[in-house]
Amino acid sequence: MPLLVAHELYRFFHIGDDETAALRGVSFQLAAGEIVALTGPSGSGKSTLLSCLTGLDEPDGGHVEVSGVRLTRRSEAERTRIRAASFGILLQSGNLYGHLTIEQNLRFQMLLAGNPDEERLTALLEGVGLSHRATAFSTQLSGGETARAGLAVALAADPPILIADEPTAEVDRETESRLIGHFEARREAGLATLLATHSEALANRADRIVRLKDGRIVR
Ligand code: ADP
Ligand code: MG
Repeated sequence: MPLLVAHELYRFFHIGDDETAALRGVSFQLAAGEIVALTGPSGSGKSTLLSCLTGLDEPDGGHVEVSGVRLTRRSEAERTRIRAASFGILLQSGNLYGHLTIEQNLRFQMLLAGNPDEERLTALLEGVGLSHRATAFSTQLSGGETARAGLAVALAADPPILIADEPTAEVDRETESRLIGHFEARREAGLATLLATHSEALANRADRIVRLKDGRIVR
């Protein structure tokens, strides 16, 4: 059974008299142990799709299921609960609280997931090469450090599905290949990863590429 299923998703945005169809009937599945790269030009609907898949946004049509549980057409509170149990999320807007240090961000994320674990926290910081930055605030980090700290936070609760929106957009090649290493380690562990990306290096390491154009999946 696929971990994540989207069936015929539609999403429309209205600004004044203008209507944008950001998603026009997108169906998609993600299996355990898979890395999928979501590509497509700017404005093709990648971020909107990721938001609908994680229940951060509600599609106007279609449905989403996570591990066999329907996520769409539920209360905000229910979506939040399902999201916390199912997804690690790294969006373009970032996932770090500026008034908390990196280790406080990680601790907070673990508390939210109901699973505080100082050993895991230490291992996560080491894994992304940020042990020496544990007490820095996110506002003090470089682009590459921010991306790695964001990944550590997204992975804090050991989620079955990792969703990342252009995780390597602001990082150098070395950081990118390090992040790719993390995604591949997740695959080995049977977890699933969905990444929106413009990076060919990243897309080429995925098991599968899904291309969006004008809100539709294209071949
Ligand atoms: P991508 O991530 O591929 O660049 P997006 O999903 O951000 O694409 O956007 C898809 C389309 O939906 C674009 O035309 C964008 O302008 C529009 N859009 C996205 N979010 C909103 C929003 N909150 N309000 C209005 N229009 C939006
Ligand atoms: Mg986007």
